[in-house]
Amino acid sequence: MHQDILRLIPSVNELLESPEVSKLTGIYPRTLVVEAIRTVLEDIRQSLTDKKEFAEAQTIDLSPQKLYHLIQQSLRQKFCGIGHAINATGIILHTGLGRAPLADEAAQQIQGALKGFCTLEIERQSGRRGIRYHHVEQLICMITGAEAALVVNNNAAAVLLALDTLARGKEVIISRSQLVEIGGSFRMPDVMAKSGAILVEVGTTNKTYLTDYSNAITEHTGLILKVHQSNFKIMGFTETVDLKDLVSLGQTRNIPVMYDLGSGALVDLQPFGLPHEPTVQESIRAGVDIITFSTDKLLGGPQGGIIAGKKKWVDLLKRNPLTRAFRVGKLTIAALEATLKLYLEENLAVQKIPVLHMMLTPLEVIEERCKRFINGLTSKTKAFMSISMVDGISEMGGGSLPGEGIPTKLISLRSEKMNAGEIAAQLRGNTPPIFARIEQDHVLLDMRTVYDDEVDTIAVALENICGF
Ligand SMILES: *Cc1c(COP(=O)(O)O)cnc(C)c1O
Repeated sequence: MHQDILRLIPSVNELLESPEVSKLTGIYPRTLVVEAIRTVLEDIRQSLTDKKEFAEAQTIDLSPQKLYHLIQQSLRQKFCGIGHAINATGIILHTGLGRAPLADEAAQQIQGALKGFCTLEIERQSGRRGIRYHHVEQLICMITGAEAALVVNNNAAAVLLALDTLARGKEVIISRSQLVEIGGSFRMPDVMAKSGAILVEVGTTNKTYLTDYSNAITEHTGLILKVHQSNFKIMGFTETVDLKDLVSLGQTRNIPVMYDLGSGALVDLQPFGLPHEPTVQESIRAGVDIITFSTDKLLGGPQGGIIAGKKKWVDLLKRNPLTRAFRVGKLTIAALEATLKLYLEENLAVQKIPVLHMMLTPLEVIEERCKRFINGLTSKTKAFMSISMVDGISEMGGGSLPGEGIPTKLISLRSEKMNAGEIAAQLRGNTPPIFARIEQDHVLLDMRTVYDDEVDTIAVALENICGF
């Protein structure tokens, strides 16, 4: 009896020629559409065979509309790849959504300067081969006060390169409270093992004193390492050693001091009413030998890692063959240069770099966005779900300012007809996909991370969802 039902399944060719599916071959390459059809038909065949009863098998919808919908879904899931997304999670540095969104200036630099050939590694005056990092190094030194700098693929690579160069086969002294895991499998003890450095832990989880470091120094010590506790906070009875004191200890005992800062803030956030996050400049002023940080966290640029500090050490790093393996491409250099140029004037940086701008967006502006969103919805949608503006907290994310949320305004959605998981899934199915938070069966849209021109897009998506 199943044979009869199986015969009702259309063939690949029938589907390809149907008016519905032939629309898809205009959008996606034909081979991909054929593959999606095969996948969908195979799934249907499987679920028909699984049904024991004829009547049960008959309940499976084989209409062209249904099949078209499944094929389209399969194509979208498999082949959409990287593309624009709307971040309504309120997490500013969201690793899943690409961490720092780029400034217009950086995006234009990629689009404009790199379409054809570019001056990546050439000296214009002599026409000879130049140095890829020349301009970006100058910018980093100008902004941070460092003597020299180098750019690699990310901060993980920066740390590995620095440890490999300065401490292979030597002891590295680090406080127990700083043996951190950053996520995405970056764990300080593992990175150290990989670099061939020997870990020497000092102090306790909550307290480490300068004498803990000085007592641990031996003839085998190669480096004193401080790691910023980027993504957690130890509260209460605590003691850490200031970078300045570590630097003087290093200088007296002739041992370089390295600081893995992680977040890479180039602007002091405290005057703007945000919690203090150590800046690169203050660490350089404290006399650190080497500092490493990400370029796509608080700095707000493309993915990358910067190593800056004393020329003597940076030059050593530049000669390590790993530097070639960690080399960044022209897309990174272009976007990073454009982002760094904005930091030459702090006002510009704060206005134009989305990460900083989003952190500092006043509550009134976010409130206005929420109101505009609600006013733009039809009464039909408002009847389908209850929609309101509520207070909430945005998060920095990306291992910056842990535990220090920023007050925000959220749109809260709740429907009797559709649960929060379904609403969120439908929003993610939109083009462009919209990512939201779910809390206690409410869908929450944080307007802090939503661009002004995306507000209407979310409203239209919601109208469509409620129109089903
Ligand atoms: C984020 C972070 C890293 C890793 O940086 P990536 O750029 O993600 O590779 C390393 N160390 C610290 C302290 C960090 O905060």
